[in-house]
Amino acid sequence: MPSVLIAGGGLVGSVNACFFGKRRWNVIVYESRSDPRGKENEKGKSINLALGFRALSTLETLGLKEKVIEMGVAVKEKIRYEERKLPVLEKLRGLNEGDFILTINRHKLCQFLINEAEKYQNVKFNFNTKATIFDTEKHILIVDAVDGQIHAKGDLILACDGAHSSIRRSLLKVSGFGFNQKYIDIGYMDLSLNVHNSSDLKPGIHYSWRTNDLIVVALVNRDQSLTDTFSRNKAQAIISVQCSQHSFFDKLLLMGDSAHAMVPFQGQGVNCGFEDCLVLNETFDELGEDSIKDVIREYSKRRTTETNILNEMEWKTYQQV
Ligand SMILES: Cc1cc2nc3c(=O)[nH]c(=O)nc-3n(C[C@H](O)[C@H](O)[C@H](O)COP(=O)(O)OP(=O)(O)OC[C@H]3O[C@@H](n4cnc5c(N)ncnc54)[C@H](O)[C@@H]3O)c2cc1C
Repeated sequence: MPSVLIAGGGLVGSVNACFFGKRRWNVIVYESRSDPRGKENEKGKSINLALGFRALSTLETLGLKEKVIEMGVAVKEKIRYEERKLPVLEKLRGLNEGDFILTINRHKLCQFLINEAEKYQNVKFNFNTKATIFDTEKHILIVDAVDGQIHAKGDLILACDGAHSSIRRSLLKVSGFGFNQKYIDIGYMDLSLNVHNSSDLKPGIHYSWRTNDLIVVALVNRDQSLTDTFSRNKAQAIISVQCSQHSFFDKLLLMGDSAHAMVPFQGQGVNCGFEDCLVLNETFDELGEDSIKDVIREYSKRRTTETNILNEMEWKTYQQV
């Protein structure tokens, strides 16, 4: 069977591992951090994610949607508190009858996806292993492992190593590759609120409090505890990334945040990253597994413009907020 190397075992890398595991390819994932399973939330990353139809359709194709829904909370309504305005309970914008946004703990989702991917015997995760460079001459990955450097070869290489992608950095001198990154002038931080059995805040509602320079968002978890995101000056930076192409040398694809990190004001980053995996899977279905080169080119054509448009939409929302 063909082999795929995946740099980054976060959300997008793990979903890709599930898809290629299902295809029976030999899948090797290189993840720079240690195994997240059996650990508490990573500091500053406890924030709940909002998954919409893009992410849920992807999980449905993998047969994982129902299990993920059981782990999260379906949200259909919002209440916004602003100075000198009365709060009003409203339906979330853009939802059809029966639709919802699923809010879910990022860390638990990541643990779940790694477990699901590893159910395929042909999938192997290597933790504490950093993919540092894509060699643009030899078309291989240079990987720093605990016991030395690996020169890893694969039929397909997927860079899912996040917004500050090392693999993307090694492509910056590739002729014709346009790349743009910008930071916004506000940051975010998580708040751990020790609130249990709050009767005032209810699961299923997206709460936000807004002043001129501050937004607090609160989502009530299944067990009535609260995960808050606190948005203000001098917190964690938020970056937006756009690329003019997602495929390189008929061998490598940038996917997820490495291709299109976006500001999170409509919460489209994971949604869009999961959809990348779905579109790649569909393109393989259409063109066949023997046509890796054609699939890579076609995928890049399909995703580059689409994700850049979504990225712009997120940016406009940030400017309005
Ligand atoms: C405050 C905030 C709120 C958000 N809310 C939402 C939301 O509600 N809904 C939504 O859809 N999106 C949301 N997003 C966006 C979302 O977090 C990202 O789009 C998503 O995490 C991207 O997944 P990824 O797997 O591409 O990258 P990441 O989640 O960054 O994962 C990359 C992985 O690669 C590993 N890695 C990095 N470098 C290397 C390397 N060189 N070698 C090997 N491994 C490496 C990392 O350790 C990590 O595990 C939010 C973002 C922020 C900042």
